Order: sequence, then C-alpha cells, then structure tokens
Amino acid sequence: MTLKESTASLSGNLTPPLHENPAFAWKDQPVPRQGVIVTDLDGTFLDRTTYSPAASLPMLRKALADGQIVVFCSSKTPSEQKHLQQTLGIKIPFICENGSAIYLPREDFPELEKEIEKDSDWLVIKLGAGFPEIDSVLENFEETYTTDLGRMSQKPIKNLASLTGLSEPAALRARSRLFSETLTAPLEENTKAQLETFLRLQGLKFECGGRFHTVTSLETDKGKAYKHLKALLQTIRGDLLSIGLGDSENDLRLLESVDFPVLVAKEDGTHEPVELEPLHRNKKPGPHGWSATIGAWLHAMA
Ligand SMILES: [Mg+2]
Repeated sequence: MTLKESTASLSGNLTPPLHENPAFAWKDQPVPRQGVIVTDLDGTFLDRTTYSPAASLPMLRKALADGQIVVFCSSKTPSEQKHLQQTLGIKIPFICENGSAIYLPREDFPELEKEIEKDSDWLVIKLGAGFPEIDSVLENFEETYTTDLGRMSQKPIKNLASLTGLSEPAALRARSRLFSETLTAPLEENTKAQLETFLRLQGLKFECGGRFHTVTSLETDKGKAYKHLKALLQTIRGDLLSIGLGDSENDLRLLESVDFPVLVAKEDGTHEPVELEPLHRNKKPGPHGWSATIGAWLHAMA
C-alpha cells in the first residue's frame, strides 16, 4: 500500500480527508514500517471528566500488538504516568511535565543503555531545568514581592487533595514534580506580569492551565520533546510515520511536530480553538475519538 492509498483509507474517519488536503503532498512511497502514536492524556486518551481510559484501552492494546510505538505526552509527573501505566498493565515511553523529560523503558531500548541516564528500569532524557532550581527561583520571587504563589510542593497533602479533588495518594503523585512547579494561588494581572519577567530572566516561563499555572524551562514544550524523541528513534528504528492526538491549546506544539495532527472533540462535539493547518478535527469526543482514529490508523498502516 502506498502513502496515498493508506491516507485515503485513513481519511474516512477524519475531517477534512487527508488525501484531499493540498498541504499533504503525498508521494507514492511505501508506507514506513514503523508507526508512532504520540498522545496527550487528559481529555484525549482519558475521559475529560472521569479520567477513565475504558473507551481507548482496547485500541491501545491493539496498537501495541500491531507493533506501533505509543508515547504518552502530558503535563503529568513521572510518578503519575508510571502509576497510570501500571494500572493499565503496560510499559511504554512517555514525555512528562509538558515536555520537560522523556522516559524510555530500559528493556525496549538496550541500544541506548550506555548513552543515557538511568532511573531504576527507565532511561531518562532531561530537557528542562530540575525542580530544585525552579523552586528556588519561585521562592526568591515570593520573598522579593512578598506574595504567596501557592506552590504545590509547599502544600500539605490533605489541603492539596481537597483543593484538587484528588485522592491523597493521587495528590502525592501530582505533587512529586521533578522538572516543574504548579502554582495554585489565583494570580492578579500585575503579579502575572512581574512573574513572567522575573522567570524569563532565569530561563523559565509559566503557562496557564485550566485552573493552575505551571512553571517550566523557557525552552520546554511537548513538541520539542517529541522531536527530540523522534530523532532518537529514527537512529534505531529507521523511518517513522507519526500521528499525534490532543484536545487543547497546550497540545499545539505536539500537533505541529507530527505527520498527522488530530484534534479530538470535547463532550459536546465542538473543538478547542487550536490554530494549525492542516489539522484533522475528529468528530467523536476524547477517548472515543482517540479509539476511532487509531483504528483507522492501524488499518492504514497494516
Ligand atoms: Mg488534554
């Protein structure tokens, strides 16, 4: 099957059809053998409200059985992602804390053993600043401006659990940040402006999430992390073809970094305002959209 034929079969599930989009100038080449699925978690692979993977898990298993490389790419911490994988009974590469680091299962990448730092049974590629460095800058800001940013690391677990609605063990995993810090206090506009400047001078930035703010290295994002991983994978697995799935603005860089960017719908069938061309907007919400698209992808790659 050629790329043109495979995208024609894939496009039945997507809007607009891939092969009709002039931005995809497909040539009649054989489909590369190695496919990569790189996916956001909350609202994409996991249900936005319940965080359940029930609708997407069977297709994830099929993708892995078909030999696809699947990469989770999220703002979640290594502790949260490892726990999620354990509950799903899988062990796959992941990008954590909004692109701050890449974790690879050691057993799957023996070629990289010598070159890459290890953390028990994972290979770890750090792309951003470490938590202690970020935290000391934030502490310095709080002292300078006599303000409380509500640093997550400073919150007692009981408070954090009631603030986030997480169980205490889940709150503990969310607080175990290695490369970023979450600010839980509501920030006034002038504080945001002061903080932005202060952080930029230290090579850091903050981004607004739905409710909280996350501080990471200035140069860190999900797309840069995936590009880094892709370059590495290409050296050991040859040509790759990658599909990326996300549901929101903070997935834009990730979607820009893949061959097939897919935005899954929200519960009501509408989409977050993500400006990217070409971008395939799936009609089904969250994990249902994920499953339908990956089903078509696996069919096209077969
Ligand atoms: Mg999301």
